[in-house]
Parts: sequence; C-alpha cells; structure tokens
Amino acid sequence: MGYPHKSHPKETPILSKYFGEPQARTLEGWKERGGYRALQQALGMTPADIVNVVKESGLRGRGGAGFPTGMKWSFMKPGDGKAHYLCVNADESEPGTFKDREIMRWTPHALIEGTAIGAYAIGAETAYIYIRGEFTEPLAIMERAVQDAYAAGLLGANAMGTGKRIDVHVHRGAGAYICGEETALMNSLEGRRGNPRIKPPFPAVAGLFGLPTTINNVETLAAVPHILNNGAAWYKAMSLSSPKSTGSKLYSVCGNVTRPGNYEVTMGYPFKDFLYDMCGGPLPGRKFKAVIPGGSSVPIQSMEEAESTLMDYEGFVAKGTMLGSGGVIVFDDSQCMVRHIARLARFYAHESCAQCTQCREGTAWTTRIMERIEAGNGTMQDFDTLLEIGDNMTGKTICVLSDSCAVPVVSGLQKFRHEFEAHITGKRCPFRATAAA
Ligand code: SF4
Repeated sequence: MGYPHKSHPKETPILSKYFGEPQARTLEGWKERGGYRALQQALGMTPADIVNVVKESGLRGRGGAGFPTGMKWSFMKPGDGKAHYLCVNADESEPGTFKDREIMRWTPHALIEGTAIGAYAIGAETAYIYIRGEFTEPLAIMERAVQDAYAAGLLGANAMGTGKRIDVHVHRGAGAYICGEETALMNSLEGRRGNPRIKPPFPAVAGLFGLPTTINNVETLAAVPHILNNGAAWYKAMSLSSPKSTGSKLYSVCGNVTRPGNYEVTMGYPFKDFLYDMCGGPLPGRKFKAVIPGGSSVPIQSMEEAESTLMDYEGFVAKGTMLGSGGVIVFDDSQCMVRHIARLARFYAHESCAQCTQCREGTAWTTRIMERIEAGNGTMQDFDTLLEIGDNMTGKTICVLSDSCAVPVVSGLQKFRHEFEAHITGKRCPFRATAAA
C-alpha cells in the first residue's frame, strides 16, 4: 500500500520526510539518508549528556500526556544496581490516530535508532517495542528491520562495536485498547492480563518485572535521532508559539475533510489554516461543525473554538481541549453528534478492563443512555444523569479510560445540547430524518 498524499508545501516533514519511499525502510536506504549517525554519536556520549540534550530540546511525549521526555528519562537512577527497561508504546489504538503506524511502516530504523539511544540514555540494556495486535504489516516491517540491525552489528552485545549491549525485542499485543495504557502494557508484556496498575509505584521505580522502566511513544523516540543530529537549539527554534511546545508534530486527520491523512507541522501552526488549507477544507457543499483534535479522549471543539486555536500543547488547552495523540477527527454539518458520542461511549464500554466500579458501570450506563437518546427515547432528565455519571467517572479510577468516556459526553452536552434536545423533542434522530427525506 502506498502513501496516501504528497507532502503539502507548508508542512515541515522531519519524521515524515521519507513516508512513501520504500527504500527508506531498508537498512541500506536508511543509512544513505543519514541513519544511525545519531546512535553512533550517542554511544560516544555519557547517558547524562544525552538526557540533558533531550531536556534542552523541550521534547515532550507524543503519545497523549505531553510529559517532558528528558525529565522522564532523568527519573531512571544510574548505578542503582538494577536492570532497567525501555518499553516502546506502539499500541496506537486511540480512535482517530494512525501516525505511529506510518513511522513504523516507512521508517522502522528511525524508531530502532531512537529506541537504542533512549535505552542507552536510561541505562537499559533491553528494550521492548510493544506493537498493536492489528498492525500486521508494521509488525512484519519492524521485525525485519530489527533482524537487519542485529545482523549489521548495530544492536546486540557489542552495539556498533562500542562494547555496549542494547537488545531490542518486538512484541505483538492482542488487540486490546487498554494495553496502550503504560502499566497495562507492562502487565501484558509480563504475560499477565492487561489490566492497568495502581500508581504509585510509578514505572521508573517499579515497572516491567518490578524493575525501573521508562515507557515512550513511537513518535517521541523517532524524534530523538533528529535532535542529536541537529541539536537541541534547532529543535526548539522550530516552534511558532510557546517555548513549552517545541519541534514538529504529526497529526492524523480523518472524518469529513477533503484530504485526510497524516500531516507534520511545527508546534504553534494555526489550526484554521491546517484544516482549510492543508487538509483541503470541508467536502463540497458542506460546512465544518466540530473537531476532536487529539484522539477520541479529548474534549470536542466547536468550529469557532477550533478556528482560533494554535496547534501546540498550550494552544489546545487554551481553547478547552488537548493536543492528546494528534488524532484529528472532523465532523461536518451532515453528522449527528449524539450518534458519534454514543458510538464513542460504546467503544469505551467495550474496552474497559472492568477493575473500577465507576468505569465498569459508568461506561455501560453512559452507553445505554446515549443510545436511548439517539434512538429518540430519551428524556430531558437524562442530561443531568449523564453529567452526574460523568462526574463520578472523572479522576476517580486507576487509569483514565473512565475519564475518556465521560469527556466527549460532557463536552458534547456543553456544545451541542440543542442536538441532544432535538432528539428528545422530535423523538427521532433529526439527521436520520433528513437523510430519509
Ligand atoms: Fe480498567 Fe476502566 Fe479502571 Fe482503567 S478506569 S483500570 S480501564 S476499569
């Protein structure tokens, strides 16, 4: 399968520069493009110096939380006499997000290189790349690339001839959304049921096999070789806005938009230009209505909010939502928000691991009420019930899946209450009625 679109002239392709070039997948092709220079450089540095460069660059986790990567690495205490581990979260399951998949499909050695640098920086001799079960093609590509890296002496007991051991293992998950939660991922790697763990202890203290562990996202690690090659100042200088948001970011765009796909822009890019210019705007005869900008777990934005947003961590928060994973889901004026929110609730109810009462019961009740409203059988009292359940589901559970189910419901009720009310007063979905007419 080829790459769906050519780079837009206003993109800043760093991670995506070689998407669509099959040669970049091979070890030889990657080396021709400058690959493994950063790892060579890193293995000649001290781990502390690498951590400092990454701290200085301002790189933040691209999986959703946005935690500063260098600071996360500095939590791994050197010389503690314990084995350390690096886990690469390649379980990309957040609805609307498909950028890590493309990194692995097109530039697997970028991830291996970033992983090896990260492992060395945190004092780990072993790294696990945990890949989503459904990612059959990326899995095959990553396994081949790891084999090639071993055969070339880039990994193993004597990585790049430096006498340092770096082992990288590729592990396939079994297709559970919750295994993208870092502690569930570690349980799954250990062969246990993929249930999130109570924190503390945090993974840097007691993670995989009870030992100090760092978990990083694919996009985060793929950015590290570029930072070492070009310097922290280069990465920081790319930001168009806040100094707290640096570098470039990949966004996956889907839904009612003319040119869906993956786009890479610098932090602070105007969301309005992104949606209308880069992504081609709405489909003919339609208007944009709403956007979920950071994967399905972040609050829905009205178009008015979206059009005045700057695309960085602070910019999305200032407009009532979050950058999250960068999965942009676009809805036009033909879409029923109640229907889409009900579908999201059903997804979370299905994926709940059921350890926490608020999540197990809350996601199920939310789904039932949302589906009742969507079918035209709801009542106005249902709104208060949904908000009360949402409140009980937020900030009270082991992980944030519960919060993630409440978020679209609460933000949808705030911003599109008239659509909810129309389902109740009309006793049917007004969008389905329009379609039938
Ligand atoms: Fe499991 Fe939900 Fe609790 Fe997370 S919030 S641990 S998914 S029950």
